[in-house]
Amino acid sequence: MKMLKYALQISPNQRKRFLRHLSSQIWKRSYSSKIRNIGILAHIDAGKTTTTERMLFYAGKTRALGEVHRGNTVTDYLTQERERGITICSSAVTFPWNNHRINLLDTPGHIDFTMEVEQSLYAVDGVVVVLDGTAGVEAQTVTVWTQADKHKLPRLIFVNKMDRPDADFEKCVRDLKDKLETQPVCLQYPVKNEDGVLAINDVITLEQLIWQQKDLGRSYKNIKLEPSDNLRQLQEKRNELIDHLSGLDDELADVVISTESFDKVDNALIKRALRRATSQQKVVPVLLGSAYKNVGIQRLMDAVNAYLPAPEERNQIYDCFGTEVAGKVFKIVHDKQRGALTLVRILRGEIKRGMRLISARGQAEVVSKLYEPLADEYREVSAVQSGDVVICAGLKSTVTGDLLTSSQSALRNAQKRLKQSLGGAATTTTNEEDDEVDESEELFAIDPQIPDAVYFCSIEPPSVSAQTAMDHALKQLQREDPSLRVSYDSVTGQTVLGGMGELHMDIIKSRILSEYKIDVDLGPLQIAYKETIENPALTTLSVEKEIAGSKQSASITLELVKNQNELFSLDKSPENLQNLNTLRPRILQVLRKGSISALERGPRVGGQVVETQIRLHNATIGRGTADSFVMATAAQCVQKLLSTSGTRLLEPIMALQIVAPSERISGIIADLSRRRALINDVLPKGERNKMILVNAPLAELSGYSSVLRTISSGTASMTMQPCGFSSMNSVDESLAERRAQGLE
Ligand code: GDP
Ligand code: MG
Repeated sequence: MKMLKYALQISPNQRKRFLRHLSSQIWKRSYSSKIRNIGILAHIDAGKTTTTERMLFYAGKTRALGEVHRGNTVTDYLTQERERGITICSSAVTFPWNNHRINLLDTPGHIDFTMEVEQSLYAVDGVVVVLDGTAGVEAQTVTVWTQADKHKLPRLIFVNKMDRPDADFEKCVRDLKDKLETQPVCLQYPVKNEDGVLAINDVITLEQLIWQQKDLGRSYKNIKLEPSDNLRQLQEKRNELIDHLSGLDDELADVVISTESFDKVDNALIKRALRRATSQQKVVPVLLGSAYKNVGIQRLMDAVNAYLPAPEERNQIYDCFGTEVAGKVFKIVHDKQRGALTLVRILRGEIKRGMRLISARGQAEVVSKLYEPLADEYREVSAVQSGDVVICAGLKSTVTGDLLTSSQSALRNAQKRLKQSLGGAATTTTNEEDDEVDESEELFAIDPQIPDAVYFCSIEPPSVSAQTAMDHALKQLQREDPSLRVSYDSVTGQTVLGGMGELHMDIIKSRILSEYKIDVDLGPLQIAYKETIENPALTTLSVEKEIAGSKQSASITLELVKNQNELFSLDKSPENLQNLNTLRPRILQVLRKGSISALERGPRVGGQVVETQIRLHNATIGRGTADSFVMATAAQCVQKLLSTSGTRLLEPIMALQIVAPSERISGIIADLSRRRALINDVLPKGERNKMILVNAPLAELSGYSSVLRTISSGTASMTMQPCGFSSMNSVDESLAERRAQGLE
């Protein structure tokens, strides 16, 4: 009201400008309420890519249907994805649906790419989990489900492949309850006509939906069911749905109580209650269909709009940025013409062409161009607002996982405001607040959490002259995928890649070939052991040399001690401190750099030396001695300490969660105990299943998923992720050493 009065007092021109401003504000708000940022997650082969393709087709974004086995889908756009028929990189696609705009991120389904899935989950507000209707909940379904739990994401289930005669909808629903311990609510049931063609009964509207195959499923008929057993059963399901939801939703409960009947509850009310219960993650709506046979996709898109949250309903933690830009970099892709492109989820503010953005690491860069994403086709735009996803060109140092904002002061203010809002509430401590503090730490984290590499292999260019080009390619790939580690082994003179698995390395190799035209060779894949010292050790190394007529001398005393925190420290005893205080800061830096560099490669298998601290006791450096000489002497001194005192190996450990019917558990445990596994817990899961929580060395798990399939006759599902490194006994240690030397 006040604003309107103001609008009446001002000049016509001012008024015009003011009203334009007002309507753009209103438009902004309603615009954002019509956006859905969703992830699509599934076990490999469940039909994620096919489902995405169908969505684009019905939304009018593609003219022909893409098929995975023909290798012409939009989202699987990297050549090797097409060759393999699986989705490696999550690409973003945008399409309109019923006055909404859906931004959909297609994510990789393979365990080697969990980092990428993780990053894309920062960018979405809800997810669609696709199940293969013939397989139910599978290994990777459990993994992605756990990840979605971590990000507290509301979800929908799409039970795909229901055209197949061996599909079993009831089993899928049972699996959801038993294996994922979720509250599925079925909004649809499958029906087959005499010819075995799939149709869908809609629980809320009590209609039968029949898709037309003449127009590739573009249209479908809604048929009101005639009174019959079928209708009665469906009514029963509708009543159950209302009953269930009224236990969770006050508005619906009030209506049910006042009308004393389920039949009088109108559909819009059910949908509102379902939307609230879904966004609070109290229920998970289940839909079904067949992407391949073009059945059910439009209803899935309707459900995304109806039940998954709009951007403004989530991410309140970013309110501390006010109207300043806050954007999360969830992916970097390499485009042949445009170079590196950065995909950003805008959480607050607006990103415009030509704008300066800075990351929490402090680098400022200019956005030269902005695009809307459509997999391998981009449309240029001039500005994109909060809630949306945008592709930025021109950001050269930004890394996947960065948080971008408009200036240093915007970042500082946001940090201050967040601290205040959390501090104000910190008088009582509840779990929720602990969560919030964790969130704030994660929010401003300088570097995203990058999993440790568990495998490594050497990588070689086809010729010495191609080395520089290969280094450049690796640098670029590393920005896109920080879980790829690149290091240089000075002993063998080789470049070494560290990563998450065989597929990960293969993809890197074929991307270097297809995108950079370099045919690199990869050495055999090896487990990435780490090394650590067993006992503290102390030594002095004195070196004197004459180089090009000038005398170089350094005498350095270093100690190695077990310590998790700092890599390098000064010995604080009075007699040493006196000498150390006379050292110039630059020399101290050089000593630090040289000695730490020696921890990159342990003496036993060349693994990184961890949980070890270098303590400087004394250093006497001759006048005129070069920095490089001091650095080399410090490194040699650490090497000497490591090889004389010896190291122990640490091996990568994987955390597994295995869900299987109770009667299979003992067989699975017996097999695990032959794999040096440590069983942490066996918990009941649903009515018939149990869940085993177990840690096992990676070295014992090669081919484990197929072994598990065999010993459980396909009834078990599993998730597996790296969970740190652990010491091993000396027998296993020497076996690992022999393997690393290629003797076994
Ligand atoms: P993704 O690995 O989850 O992306 O799965 P894809 O979309 O690549 O599908 C895997 C395979 O299942 C392909 O051969 C598809 O043609 C097939 N497929 C996908 N959806 C359906 C479906 O609804 N019915 C049947 N019968 N096959 C399907
Ligand atoms: Mg795929």
